[in-house]
Amino acid sequence: MAVVLEEKIEAIYRQVIARNPGEGEFHQAVKEVLETLGPVLVKYPEFAHQKIIQRVCEPERQIIFRVPWQDDKGEVHINRGFRVEFNSAIGPYKGGLRFHPSVYLGIIKFLGFEQLFKNALTGMPIGGGKGGSDFDPKGKSDNEIMRFCQSFMTELYRHLGEYTDVPAGDIGVGGRELGFLFGQYKRITNRYESGVLTGKGIGWGGSLVRKEATGYGAVYFVREMLKVRKNSVEGKNCVVSGSGNVAIYTMEKLQQLGAKVVACSDSNGIIVHEKGIDLDLVKRLKEVERRRIGDYVSYHKDAKYVQGGNIWEVPCQIAMPSATQNEINGKDAATLVKNGCIAVGEGANMPTTPEGVKVFLDAKIAYGPGKAANAGGVATSALEMQQNASRDSWTFEFTERKLDDIMTRIHATTYETAEEFGVSGNYVAGANVLSFIKVAQAMVPLGLI
Ligand code: GLU
Repeated sequence: MAVVLEEKIEAIYRQVIARNPGEGEFHQAVKEVLETLGPVLVKYPEFAHQKIIQRVCEPERQIIFRVPWQDDKGEVHINRGFRVEFNSAIGPYKGGLRFHPSVYLGIIKFLGFEQLFKNALTGMPIGGGKGGSDFDPKGKSDNEIMRFCQSFMTELYRHLGEYTDVPAGDIGVGGRELGFLFGQYKRITNRYESGVLTGKGIGWGGSLVRKEATGYGAVYFVREMLKVRKNSVEGKNCVVSGSGNVAIYTMEKLQQLGAKVVACSDSNGIIVHEKGIDLDLVKRLKEVERRRIGDYVSYHKDAKYVQGGNIWEVPCQIAMPSATQNEINGKDAATLVKNGCIAVGEGANMPTTPEGVKVFLDAKIAYGPGKAANAGGVATSALEMQQNASRDSWTFEFTERKLDDIMTRIHATTYETAEEFGVSGNYVAGANVLSFIKVAQAMVPLGLI
């Protein structure tokens, strides 16, 4: 598989950079996909004639809006809201909302681009989109969060609909935020349109397993990668970065499958607990009390907190980056491999830099890129949409089995695609090639869209 962009594709990539200046994360996500597509154009020359690559790199619609809100002291703040509707060839735009101070158009575009291909891998009828704001929910009161969400939705609602665009959560957007967003949508539109948002609460149209799905799914993906190598998750030492929703349920499934999680983190520092992370405590600190992970050590004297520590220096056999983009660089990847890491499952979106990806691929460890490994979250969102459409609600066991089946299929199909294109064991190429073909084959029959 060409590591260097072939000439034609190189020209398209240069055009993407020129048309989207200063959006480094978007360039990175596009480059990673484009550099695997050479053999696809050879097999499907019609995709080149139809300029499918150029079209998928240009979002169908990009919305940027003002979000004014008032804090508890009455001071006015102005944030910026985004929704990038990337592609709706396979289904309505689908993808989460991220509230984080680092958010700008380039972040939302990289996430929307990744989402399009990830969603295609799920085999569910969902297109790709992403949104968010540079609003920082950290340290805000519930009332401030509510006022912000209401203001955000007061503009966003006109672009949404169960057949148009269906947001969900991402970093900084969980059950609390989705509740305020759904409440405002319902109020403005006078419609109880459950299918307009996913990740809803269980009492108001949500699906069991949605909360757990991204983390559980990522572990299932690692389980499948290890199965191919006649190995398993059981008994392995694991490191999981982050301590948000994805990290918590990654740790839960790892523990259920008999692995030991020895470290987790937040943006301030890392916790190392050789005895194994006390997940009930992490859940209480993060989900209930909204505290920092550093507080963990006041309950466990044998655990260590390192402020600003690098979690990838903690030796492990399985690493699951579950925090944010570009959290593993080339040096971190080399450290992981040197310390005996045999598998990496990405719960976060694009958590490894291109240099890091190269280290993992060259070392031939089991490397599951986010696009494939973390697709369980959005797949379960699609299951939530199915339940909403049929006014049904499924049991935990039934829904979890569906999630497991979907992840097992994503693993098998990305693995087979890599084999077919002569890059056995390379899930980056497998996922990119397979999802691109799925999107392209949906676009072509729809005409010039
Ligand atoms: N934000 C999640 C992701 O990155 C979930 C999106 C969704 O459920 O729509 O896939």
